[in-house]
Amino acid sequence: MTDPSEKSFLDLSRRGFLAAAAGSVAGAGLASSGAQAQQPENLPNIPDDAVGRPFPEADLQMPLPPDQRLGWCVVGLGAFALNHVIPAITRSQTCRLAGLVSGNAEKARRVATHYGVPDARIYDYESFDDIANDDSIDVVYIVLPNGLHAEYTIRAFEAGKHVMCEKPMANTVEECRAMIQASQEADRKLMIAYRAHFEPHNQRALRMKKEGAFGDIRLVIGDTMRPLDLSRPRDEWRVLRDLAGGGSMMDIGIYALNGTLYFLEESPVALVASISNPPDDIRFRQVEDLVTVQLRFGSGALANLSSSYTMNENRIQILGSEGTGLLNPATSYVGNTLYETGSDVGTRKVPVQDSSLRQFTGEIDHLSRAIIENFTPDTPGEMGLRDVALIRAIYASAERGSWVELNPDGTMRG
Ligand code: NAD
Repeated sequence: MTDPSEKSFLDLSRRGFLAAAAGSVAGAGLASSGAQAQQPENLPNIPDDAVGRPFPEADLQMPLPPDQRLGWCVVGLGAFALNHVIPAITRSQTCRLAGLVSGNAEKARRVATHYGVPDARIYDYESFDDIANDDSIDVVYIVLPNGLHAEYTIRAFEAGKHVMCEKPMANTVEECRAMIQASQEADRKLMIAYRAHFEPHNQRALRMKKEGAFGDIRLVIGDTMRPLDLSRPRDEWRVLRDLAGGGSMMDIGIYALNGTLYFLEESPVALVASISNPPDDIRFRQVEDLVTVQLRFGSGALANLSSSYTMNENRIQILGSEGTGLLNPATSYVGNTLYETGSDVGTRKVPVQDSSLRQFTGEIDHLSRAIIENFTPDTPGEMGLRDVALIRAIYASAERGSWVELNPDGTMRG
């Protein structure tokens, strides 16, 4: 997979720079008309008053010029959109915030004022389809409850826009298929917002695994849990099956599931799951609390994953014949940390220069680049479909109380 940090939109190649720099050493006074101090032989001959010097040698990542940036429109102005998505769009190298879609006009105007979005670019859920006539919008970012992802993704494609859709892609495999078909018919890109693929510690762990740092991977253990808090508006829809599609596994277990497949680089061939809900807890009338699942892979590797809405944990452990990688936390918004354990290193924290914050701009810039350079994003609709299919298989296995066999696309066999 491509590492976004290694890509630059304005390619100031080192070779190009060196050529420019070499040319300028001889005539170092570029823009100067000032006095030139005579330097002893072999020392740089630079004027001693202020002058323009050549472009500095650096790993420059210049943003796209403003008039070339893609216009992104955010649908759903909830907790994640306001705290993470919109700030990341403003920090990105490739986009500008071009539109907002909300059912709450006052909230939308307030956000628009702070981010300089004109009133004419504020839409509600009824006028949403008018974005088809808005050339300032290239990409739509769906940050609605899961049960609304399919409808708004398909409407965005019908309006001729590209789509970034939050995880989980949708509630059902059928919805995922319809979203992919709409993307193909519109000839527009569809990316699922799996931010961990763009998170430096997760990327580093995958690189170490590929370089053999952990040997043959035999087991992945992943636990993603957080207490569901009904006093917070963002958690209200999460207890309703039609809007959430499921409970802890759909919402956060998907991180451990997707992460496991990211590190193992293969899809499971079978799984068995169990679900447990605390009795008399109104949060779990329609959606589940605790899920445990064991996955079996063609390579012989196994994974043990869990998700819960009543405990607190966020870690992924990759265990191999030569060592162990531990991400703890693994998929937080900030402060993810990677540890390595091996017979020759003991246990050490793996230094990773970049901050976890880069995951948000990383995924946004990745889709912009996929559109500009016309390639398939690293986390396409097919990956979102696979994960939704696996979660449906997890629910089916828990209900049947038995193993289920899986197709390569994550759907159940037979
Ligand atoms: P939220 O409740 O804070 O935001 C949901 C938004 O949708 C709100 O603006 C709300 O007004 C709007 N909405 C429209 N119709 C609605 C309806 N019928 N019921 C409820 N809200 C409705 O939720 P959130 O935590 O921001 O989650 C939104 C999406 O983002 C979900 O798909 C979630 O899985 C995803 N998410 C992703 C991450 C991540 O790290 N990638 C983190 C949090 C949430």
